[in-house]
Amino acid sequence: MNFEQLYQQNLDFPNRYISPEKLFSYLQTNLSDHIQEIGKSYLEKPIFKLTVGTGDINILAWSQMHGNESNATHAMLDLLMTLDKAPELKEELLTKIKLDFIFMLNPDGSERWTRLNAVDIDLNRDFHNESSKEIKFLKSAAASKKYDYALNLHEQRTIFTTDGIHPATLSFLAPSEDYERTVTDNRKKCMAVIAEVYNHLKELIPNQIGRYSDEFYPTSTGDNFIKAGMPTILFEGGHFVDDYTRKGTRKYYTIALYYALKAIRKLNSDIEGWETYLDIPENRETHYDIVYRNVKLNTDHECILDVAVQYREMREEGKDEISFVPFVMEVGDVKQKKGWLEIDCTGKKFVSANKYPKLDAEVNFKIED
Ligand SMILES: [Zn+2]
Repeated sequence: MNFEQLYQQNLDFPNRYISPEKLFSYLQTNLSDHIQEIGKSYLEKPIFKLTVGTGDINILAWSQMHGNESNATHAMLDLLMTLDKAPELKEELLTKIKLDFIFMLNPDGSERWTRLNAVDIDLNRDFHNESSKEIKFLKSAAASKKYDYALNLHEQRTIFTTDGIHPATLSFLAPSEDYERTVTDNRKKCMAVIAEVYNHLKELIPNQIGRYSDEFYPTSTGDNFIKAGMPTILFEGGHFVDDYTRKGTRKYYTIALYYALKAIRKLNSDIEGWETYLDIPENRETHYDIVYRNVKLNTDHECILDVAVQYREMREEGKDEISFVPFVMEVGDVKQKKGWLEIDCTGKKFVSANKYPKLDAEVNFKIED
């Protein structure tokens, strides 16, 4: 049996929201021989690095540098759970590589379910400034030995598709090292790994794998690590239809992580097959979560328009899952975009305290027959 048939979710973490305390206690209870605390966040939460494998290909990976992106934390937990049930796959993989995995680099943001850390810094734009405590721990981990590869693990919004129809459930990037986006040898090493992952995943989720923009971001982590000589691969978990808690994404993220590690094991810095990377469709920004079509407003003149809505993910104190709050993003002619949910309001009533929907405000209208 192959990995995807053996895939097991870690049932201790059923929700998209992961409480940092729960994760720390899980790691300390179940993986104490493999973890090391590498520092404490602004709010004094521990940041743990897990080390698995005995091989000599060194890999550094980190999850939740943006607190509201838990898929990669789940993927690592699910990978370990699945490999425990498949000793031969585990043996094959982990005797060739050594993986240092930093769980939840931004535990303060993870607690509050925010992209930013406790003092509102985006760790992924703080490479040079080092104004956050947390980015320094990542940089010193990266400097502690010569890593052959790094995996920079993120999630993207629901707005992206691969072709205007299918969601970009997973997108990958071999980041640029300069504004000219030169295809360097280190980029080719990343592209070769991504190509292997793509070859496996496109059979499982056809048309749902994309390529993230390779625009050069001078202050971001991956771009700077690769520029400094460490091949760094970006993962972006994205939308899966009718699955806002991203359980489907979580599964394929785990499978992608497994095949990336397997590809690294096989390629061992070789660039064979890198050209396939160029076949992966680029992410397209085509969707909103909901588009209300042909909404007739209660204005004095005849006014029929579209209303585009996007969920904001929020966490209320004490809740163990996030909630999705709809916000108005665009009003007017939205024909060039689609909604994952399209609601035709022809002949229906717009019911609201306001005459028209307010931009950037929570949805406060109803559509009635
Ligand atoms: Zn991110």
